[in-house]
Amino acid sequence: MAIEKHNPYYSRTDTTLLHVTDAEWKKILPADVYNIARDKGTEYAFTGKYYKTDTKGTYYCAVCGNALFKSDAKFASSCGWPSFYEALTPNSVRYENDNTHGMRRTEVLCGRCDSHLGHIFDDGPKPTGQRFCMNSAVLEFEPDTK
Ligand code: FE
Repeated sequence: MAIEKHNPYYSRTDTTLLHVTDAEWKKILPADVYNIARDKGTEYAFTGKYYKTDTKGTYYCAVCGNALFKSDAKFASSCGWPSFYEALTPNSVRYENDNTHGMRRTEVLCGRCDSHLGHIFDDGPKPTGQRFCMNSAVLEFEPDTK
């Protein structure tokens, strides 16, 4: 992983909460990842690397390595962003009210590093009815081995 090499906070096993300043992240993260993760940007629909993938595996936070979603919970959404109906565990992510841009939305953040991942909506499929609408740039996919 290119990101992992230069990022001392990245770990697939350490779940300790991170408190890293944006100034520090800016030195570490690629510009497109920083823009979404720390400036709460959004990638253009239908441009991300994962919006239509359906390979079996796990999606990790591209900033810190925290496990976020299983491919089993990914579904084909017409919205143009990778969409999941549930997080891997309740602590994988956390939520914040987001009233910017004239909308009332719920922001989804990484449970370990607090990076912005996307938003959650209640128009998803069963069993949860939820749609985690994520940005590909802050996800990192690892296919199952076998
Ligand atoms: Fe993270």
